[in-house]
Amino acid sequence: MLDTPRFTEITPTADIKGERHGKRAKCLQRLIRMELPVPHTVAIPFDAVRDIAGGEMIDLSTLISLFDGEPRLLSVRSSSETPDWGGPGAVLNIGMNDHAHAWLSNTLGDTVADKLYLRFIRSFAIEVMRLDEAPFEEATTPAAARAVFEEEMEEPFPQDIRDQLAAVLRAMARAWEGTSARLLRQAQGAPADAGLGLVVQRMAQGMGPGQSGSGVVQFVDPATGAPQVTGRYMGQAMGREALRAPDRALYLTRDARGPSLEELLPEVYAELLDVGARCRTRLREEMQVEFTIDQGRLAVLDAVRCPREARAGVAIATALARDGIIPRSEALLRIAPATLSRLLHRQIDTDAPRTVLARGVAASPGAASGRLVFDPAEAQAALSRDEACILVRRETSPDDVRGMHAADGVLTERGGTTSHAAVIARGLGLPCVTGATGLRVSGKDRTVTLADGRVLGEGDSITIDGSSGEVLDGLVPTQEPMLDDAFRDIMTWSDQARDIGVRANADTVADATLARGFGVDGIGLCRTEHMFFDPARLTVMREMIFAEGPSDRAAALERLLPMQRDDFTELFTLMSGLPVCIRLLDPPLHEFLPSEGQGISDLAAALDRPLSEVKTRIAAMQEYNPMLGMRGVRLGIAMPEIYEMQARAIFEATVAALDEGSVVTPEIMIPLVTARREVELVKRRIDAIAAAVREESGTEFDYRLGVMVETPRAALRAGEIAEMAHFLSFGTNDLTQMTYGLSRDDAGRFMSAYVNEGVYPEDPFGTLDVDGVGELLLLGAARGRAVRPDVTVALCGEHGGSPESIAFCRLAGFDYVSCSPFRVPVAKLAAAHATILGSDAADSRRS
Ligand code: PEP
Ligand code: MG
Repeated sequence: MLDTPRFTEITPTADIKGERHGKRAKCLQRLIRMELPVPHTVAIPFDAVRDIAGGEMIDLSTLISLFDGEPRLLSVRSSSETPDWGGPGAVLNIGMNDHAHAWLSNTLGDTVADKLYLRFIRSFAIEVMRLDEAPFEEATTPAAARAVFEEEMEEPFPQDIRDQLAAVLRAMARAWEGTSARLLRQAQGAPADAGLGLVVQRMAQGMGPGQSGSGVVQFVDPATGAPQVTGRYMGQAMGREALRAPDRALYLTRDARGPSLEELLPEVYAELLDVGARCRTRLREEMQVEFTIDQGRLAVLDAVRCPREARAGVAIATALARDGIIPRSEALLRIAPATLSRLLHRQIDTDAPRTVLARGVAASPGAASGRLVFDPAEAQAALSRDEACILVRRETSPDDVRGMHAADGVLTERGGTTSHAAVIARGLGLPCVTGATGLRVSGKDRTVTLADGRVLGEGDSITIDGSSGEVLDGLVPTQEPMLDDAFRDIMTWSDQARDIGVRANADTVADATLARGFGVDGIGLCRTEHMFFDPARLTVMREMIFAEGPSDRAAALERLLPMQRDDFTELFTLMSGLPVCIRLLDPPLHEFLPSEGQGISDLAAALDRPLSEVKTRIAAMQEYNPMLGMRGVRLGIAMPEIYEMQARAIFEATVAALDEGSVVTPEIMIPLVTARREVELVKRRIDAIAAAVREESGTEFDYRLGVMVETPRAALRAGEIAEMAHFLSFGTNDLTQMTYGLSRDDAGRFMSAYVNEGVYPEDPFGTLDVDGVGELLLLGAARGRAVRPDVTVALCGEHGGSPESIAFCRLAGFDYVSCSPFRVPVAKLAAAHATILGSDAADSRRS
């Protein structure tokens, strides 16, 4: 095997590889191939740099001999495999010595020569030899700086360019091996053995007489991605007068204050625009170009991917695809799905100062500011006064949903990513921070006590950042969300690319409208309990719960029936042509009952029952473990009238929507199933209701019955359960809770300790645990399909909106995932990524 060359001159045909010489070296070669005026450059590969760090220097005499001309001044820059992995800063003007200083004094004058020499001595001393900065602050001439250097180092300032270059290369190579640099790049995903390349380039000073200077330019707005020339140009002084005021900042275009490069040097400016346009087509990216102008002649020193904010990233990728420069699939892959969720929500202004009061779980993205309110009624009152508010609770319960609708954001002391507050907030697109354990919330005193003892009350304002989990002091400025053409393109192209369905978890007409606007494939989970929290309905619901026996219960249900029927008719009409999956009632009934004194008194009055009786009944309904108690299908078996009413409402709504010309095939889903017999009992009753409604209405319709697989036993027994079910939808919130034996409402308290200690790689309620819960998914899907090959398999827990979980579901052959409406764009793009990457992988396996 041939030795890898220790360094390589970058020419159009040289063997320069990104994975051996780094991205900067590769990019410079591309610029050279484009015949841009790039100064002479040499690349040193990763293995040589590693050897330099270990004490083995490369042949510097040969390397330096590749650069000719006077004065011989060089720069060294780092070139890592991925720019995000960083690298030591550039060192410029290597080769500055007494000889170069004299030459520059003769040609450009003393001021320029002194300035360059002084700068180099300082940067060599401080950045390369690691001397203290302080003593150099006083040294304002090259001679003074040299004296400080020689005193500190007890040796002369090196005059030989080889000695200088050797020291620079060694310092940069060792800086890369340092612990903090290593940790920083590993945090950006770099492998432990990531290499550093270095590029040595002839300096193009931009210091000559006449029109000279240096600058950076980019051709898009870094905030929006819209075409716009921005950057800065530092013009070198011209003539005698200007020597007294060297380095004036010039602007690139006429729009800004001061003289512009466009006016001073229109040809060079046009040349720069051409460089930008050529970079865009040839490098298939918006680049930021570093340049110098020497006596009117342009030199391109470097080009890097232009820095950009999230929305600019989306605009740039789509514009490149629309112009045919990159394929659409690549545009999609260039956008991280999580970026889209940032575009859909208000964000804290990036420039705004922030004082962090506490940190919690980033439970629902977006930022919101407002006054603190401590109960749902206050939130509603604030809304009626048009006042922004943040609802603060220890944890939320269904009673708080109305208040959540009215609030601008929600903050809870307890809870994690799938606690009640988190799930509802995501559904509403409401910023939410849960599990802010540094806080103590007292609903009674209407205060929040911070970790440092400070107490905030009703008059105080805070801002929450549901994307980072931060709770901030005061009203921090925010930026509006943006849904523009670029966003719409991403949605359309994702739909064309993906081969796994994306539905929405939508309970209300508002949710469904939003979801339809994002172009979902249907509703994958309509949690019907949320329909009962409207005050008028809640009272009837409570009457039903307090009914003495089946006939009283039936009477209350009779009143709920038309309300449910109207809900479903609206949903079916709105979603006409798309599937709507309705889950029968799931939560324990006591969630519909008040828990506080006044609420209980009000209820007793509304029911016209003695307070003591109401209290006793409520107490009797309490369970030690409500999430494992009388809920889901257990309600359907113990009190069949509830599910019967819901089934009737669904079928009557189907008939009503069909009559209006909508296309409807309802799907009915049974929650918390553990055994085949549960499904059998419920199915028999629902079939009977369907037959009755067909008969009464004289209308034919179909429906699909499915099972929510959210207990480990249902996953294990999916084969026999599938005999009864058209579809199996994995409810991974409960399934994760039950597989781990970990309460989804309490896990927030210790989850960060668990993740920090590496017990779990991530919060399993946020990112699907593919090893454990995932195995149950695979097993359940396989057992179900073995018995019923056409059974539809889906996932409708919160994981349905997580890109990693979507990739897993696609690989497992699931038909669709379902997530909160606001997560739909993220899920669609993630599904497209999974499909594109999956088929690339399949193609490469085939070839
Ligand atoms: C689930 O358990 O995954 C689910 C979707 O249902 P819920 O969150 O309503 O319990
Ligand atoms: Mg569930």
